[in-house]
Amino acid sequence: MTKDADSVTKRRIGVLALQGGFEAHERRLTELGHEPLRVRYAAQFSELDGLILPGGESTTHLKLIALEGLGPALEAFVATRKPVLATCAGLILSAKTVTGPAQASFGFLDVAVRRNAWGRQLDSFEAVADDSDVPLTFIRAPRIESVGPGVEVVLRYHGEPVLVRSGVFFGATFHPELTTDVRVHRQVFGGALNAATSAR
Ligand code: GLN
Repeated sequence: MTKDADSVTKRRIGVLALQGGFEAHERRLTELGHEPLRVRYAAQFSELDGLILPGGESTTHLKLIALEGLGPALEAFVATRKPVLATCAGLILSAKTVTGPAQASFGFLDVAVRRNAWGRQLDSFEAVADDSDVPLTFIRAPRIESVGPGVEVVLRYHGEPVLVRSGVFFGATFHPELTTDVRVHRQVFGGALNAATSAR
C-alpha cells in the first residue's frame, strides 16, 4: 500500500452517525490525532475537513439520509474534493451501480458492487491483503465487480479489489476500523500524531 503525505495539522473528520459502525472509526481517527465529529445534520458538513461513510445496513442508511434530508449536503461535500473513506455499506452508497439486489446509490465512485457477495459460510471473516500485511475484516461484505477507468485499486484480496480510490475518495469492502491498524485511515486523512503506522 502506498503511503500518502502525512499531514501535521489536526483535522476535523466527520463520521456519518445515522446507524452502523461509527464508533470504531472515531477511535482510529483519535489515534491519528484527528478530531472525529458525529454527523447527523446537513449543517455540519461545512465544518468538516474529511468524512467517513461507515458500515451498517446500506438500505437503512439510504432511508435515513433521505429522511434527514442529507443527500444534497453530502453531494456538495464530496464535490469539494476533501478526503472521504467509505467502508462496506458506505461503499455501497457511494458506488455507481449496486446489485444483489439493485438499489439507489450516489455514484461517487465509478465501481459496480454486489451486496452480501461472499456467500453464507463466509458471512464474516478475517484475511490479509494480497501484497501487503494490512488486515482485512469482512462482515457481510460487498464485492467490487468492476472498476471504471479513473479508479485505482489500492489493495486486493484473492486478486479482487478490496480498497479502491478515485483521487481523494476511497472505498473499502472491508472494515479497516475494526483492527488497531491505522494505515488505511492514515492513507486517506494523514496523521496529526506520529502514531505507529503498523499494527500494534
Ligand atoms: N451487507 C450490508 C449492506 O448491504 C453491508 C454490511 C456492512 O456494512 N458491514 O448494506
